[in-house]
Amino acid sequence: MNSHIMPTYARLPVCFERGEGAWLWDSDGKRHLDALSGIAVCNLGHAHPAVTAAIALQAGKLVHTSNLYRVGLQETLADALASASGMDNVFFCNSGAEANEAAIKLARKYGHGLGVCEPAVIVMENSFHGRTLATLSATGNRKIQEGFEPLVSGFVRVPYDDADAVSAIDNPNVVAVLVEPVQGEGGVRIPSPGYLKRLRELCDQRQWLLMLDEVQTGMGRTGSLFAFQQAGIVPDVFTLAKALGNGVPIGACLARGTAAEILTVGKHGSTFGGNPLACAAALAVLKTLGEENLVQRAGILGSAIAANFRTEFGSNPHVREVRNHGLMIGIELDRPCADLVGLALAQGLLINVTAETTIRLLPPLILDNAEAQLLVGQLAGIVNAHTIQNQ
Ligand SMILES: *Cc1c(COP(=O)(O)O)cnc(C)c1O
Repeated sequence: MNSHIMPTYARLPVCFERGEGAWLWDSDGKRHLDALSGIAVCNLGHAHPAVTAAIALQAGKLVHTSNLYRVGLQETLADALASASGMDNVFFCNSGAEANEAAIKLARKYGHGLGVCEPAVIVMENSFHGRTLATLSATGNRKIQEGFEPLVSGFVRVPYDDADAVSAIDNPNVVAVLVEPVQGEGGVRIPSPGYLKRLRELCDQRQWLLMLDEVQTGMGRTGSLFAFQQAGIVPDVFTLAKALGNGVPIGACLARGTAAEILTVGKHGSTFGGNPLACAAALAVLKTLGEENLVQRAGILGSAIAANFRTEFGSNPHVREVRNHGLMIGIELDRPCADLVGLALAQGLLINVTAETTIRLLPPLILDNAEAQLLVGQLAGIVNAHTIQNQ
């Protein structure tokens, strides 16, 4: 099994063949409730008819031409994203790591424009920005960096959710701050309410670019199209990927003002980036999010699910906290709980555990109320049985 695949993943012994909405069917025909959406990718669920139709139509027309020519759908998608976000320009790529690479390159070039010879970016402890050399160097997790030294230099690390620590940085090389509005891989960590606003003020005072990694939080997941819209700020740069194409690979680095003019002819590129197929999928995603009112639904459903979990776990002393920002939901236990993934899988429920002790749920935004109830009941049963049995 997997004999010719590099062993970079500890894969669960299940293979899915078909999906519909919040459900996946494995090769034995067994049905699973997907509370992870392919890690915040399939926000519209599996095989959403609007996305399927857009992909099929475009695949039959034109898949790729390269960026040596104008790409009409790319221009249309950039317009839609710019008007939805308040940004001026978009660079398209194929993944979250690439989108963050673009942001880091943009910050460095911005710094050189200011006369800073070795520009540096402030990044956070516990963060995740991807697996390329620059993005793993920006990532605040030694396990991800180990074995790949020398790391890319030019990052200054501070604790997350600590604006004072950012304020205390007195380093003339700093030109930007890169931060996740909610840390996803880091354990669904939600910063205190004024955090992004303070970072915005600090960046304004010091001419730093505020760059948000919205690869996981973006596209409606947190209850607004982009998480920064709930923080009452606008970043200079932000990145998207995961749910942008509902599974068709596409990433984006968006910027406004002077930051939007930094990456000029010849300074960055991507062969596949923003090809007609990926853009058709992303346009269908944006349209469907609007038509089905799914962004608002993510906020309402997320709060309801979290409240129901709090009720279910009210008398379980091993559950430290249930937290959520829209449909990014974390259930933190008082112990490592990676075992729960296999136990849930056996019962036909797909969940994830991150940062060792936190169950992470990223259900699709199209989850209906009955499915939400099923998710809460089933997972609460598994967690309560497991923690009480093993106390
Ligand atoms: C998943 C993720 C990335 C990396 O995206 P890839 O598409 O796997 O390269 C970067 N940042 C955040 C916040 C993510 O959640």
